[in-house]
Amino acid sequence: MMQLDNLYQEVILDHYKHPENKGLADAFDAQVHHINPSCGDEITLNLSLEGTKVKGISWDGVGCSISQASVSIMSGLMLGKDLMIAQEILDNFVSLMQSKGVGQPDENVLEDAVALAGVSQYPARIKCALLGWMAFKDASVQAQKKN
Ligand code: ZN
Repeated sequence: MMQLDNLYQEVILDHYKHPENKGLADAFDAQVHHINPSCGDEITLNLSLEGTKVKGISWDGVGCSISQASVSIMSGLMLGKDLMIAQEILDNFVSLMQSKGVGQPDENVLEDAVALAGVSQYPARIKCALLGWMAFKDASVQAQKKN
């Protein structure tokens, strides 16, 4: 595995072994399927909105620990948030992933997602970390069109 801070590695492995919001809900406003062919990661994400609030988020997937932990962390962060806040969190995380290892993650905004900061040093793995977040973005656009 990559050289990540031990504490961060524990957070990632904990989400990988005990994922949040895993298991697809029957009811949803949008369902998306995203893949990361370079690593073999796949996720399906179901999203439901109540007005502009994230009412439900559930997912299923297979792949590396980074991709699966990241979608678990993302799902916990976005659940219950207004889409405007969700977008800010997402932008914050994307900036962190583009920071080439020098970004200073804001734990108040990103919570457990700060554990993924070290991934930004490994260009080949950034797509793993972003997979679930891009799926969320896609699903939120589709769900808003529907509502
Ligand atoms: Zn991966």
